[in-house]
Amino acid sequence: MENKVRTRYAPSPTGFMHIGNLRTALYEYLISKSLGGKFILRIEDTDQCRHIEGAQEVIYSTLKQVGLTYDEGPDIGGNFGPYVQSQRKDIYLKYAQRLIEEKKAYHCFCDKERLESLKSSENCLGYGGYDRHCRYCDNSLMDSMLKSGKPYVIRQKMPLDGSTEFTDEVYGEIIVENKELQDQILIKADGLPTYNFANVIDDHLMGITHIVRGCEYLSSAPKYNLLYEAFGWEIPKYIHLPLIMGKNEDGSLSKLSKRHGSVSFEDLVREGYLPEAIVNCIALLGWCPSDNREIFSLSDLVKKFSIDRISKSPSTFDYDKLNWFNGEYIRSKEDDHLLCLFTPYIKKAVSRSNIDYLKIVQTIKNRVTKLTQIPDMIDFIETLPKYDINLFVNKKSKTNLENSLLVLKKAKERLLSLNTWCHESIYDLLIDMAKEMQIKNGTLMWPIRVAVSGKLVTPGGAVEILDILGKDESINRINLAIEILTKFEEKNL
Ligand code: GLU
Repeated sequence: MENKVRTRYAPSPTGFMHIGNLRTALYEYLISKSLGGKFILRIEDTDQCRHIEGAQEVIYSTLKQVGLTYDEGPDIGGNFGPYVQSQRKDIYLKYAQRLIEEKKAYHCFCDKERLESLKSSENCLGYGGYDRHCRYCDNSLMDSMLKSGKPYVIRQKMPLDGSTEFTDEVYGEIIVENKELQDQILIKADGLPTYNFANVIDDHLMGITHIVRGCEYLSSAPKYNLLYEAFGWEIPKYIHLPLIMGKNEDGSLSKLSKRHGSVSFEDLVREGYLPEAIVNCIALLGWCPSDNREIFSLSDLVKKFSIDRISKSPSTFDYDKLNWFNGEYIRSKEDDHLLCLFTPYIKKAVSRSNIDYLKIVQTIKNRVTKLTQIPDMIDFIETLPKYDINLFVNKKSKTNLENSLLVLKKAKERLLSLNTWCHESIYDLLIDMAKEMQIKNGTLMWPIRVAVSGKLVTPGGAVEILDILGKDESINRINLAIEILTKFEEKNL
């Protein structure tokens, strides 16, 4: 039998991909793919006043970058199109008319002033809102108003008593008293559907079986259900996702927002996070596997994902955790791949010729957590910074100004006579030298590393840096250090 599971990601194009939206898309994808179903992209752009140039492209490109391949969508088509709501304008009215014919909906001619006045007064229903005035108008009055061309909206007749109940797959049983529900508008005065109406009609016509969305939509679900019931359509399964929180400086939590850090996929990528690390981190915002495993590729997630392990308690987007994931993903990649990823960032700091980028990659890869850290990490390769002479003094390595000068003079001599300049030969030479001088390797490496980098902390040790810089530049920098240390010694004699 054909598998009927169909989920849809239905973003309103905002021009950026919020972490919460990406999580919704990911869970929709995972639910359909883990059940062997189809994943559909539908653009909900009925709010034309909020039209943002290029916003749909952001959605396509993000889904592509993270590998959430959809089976049907605006740019690839499918049997249930069009997949952009603004191109479906003509579909909705006839469904509202059908409800009118079946006496489940009605024309409402109440104007703005009347509706405004209702807001301020307690109406006969005991709560603020529309008083269902037109629901009870007689037919002849309705007909004459229609003929006169007076603007109207179409409202659904909500049940006056009883309650609407449904079971959300995550939040469990939800019950709402029907009297709390206003007669909802289906078609606005301009003839276009309301957001909720279009959403239900589209989900039904597209055969959506599982509706996945943020928990801010939980309270609207009863209204959607009353529409499905009015049409006699099967109600889909609901999967509402927990809130995403951010950690405040004082340790408290609040809804994730810009003050916590970047909240969109594009900004995170711009900050140097890899798409697959972002996806992995987001996958765990509200879902967890049965074991403690944390690293999941998208295809692992498809295999492991199950709706019953989605939690309803709010989850926290932790930037430290994202750094950890990113570091793990960087370290798991082959050097060739890292070379492609790192090159634009290396170029920001290093423009000197004769520098082998692959050597830089191999030296720094274990220390990079975000790609944007790279330029600051390696800027000393381009130009030796001005440094404090006291950098040569290090207790642990047992170095001081005097023995540093001695080491550097000797190292310079030896390195000058080295014919093959490579990691191995530099390493052998320096280790031999330490043995000969009867000093610890650290006592030898420390001053050399400081001399060639001008920094206290560097990615990689003396040997790697010498290898990257090449013979001439290394000797120049060692010479400079010798000069500085000699001057200092002379001054203090
Ligand atoms: N268009 C809605 C949004 O972007 C999605 C609503 C839904 O998934 O039903 O938030």
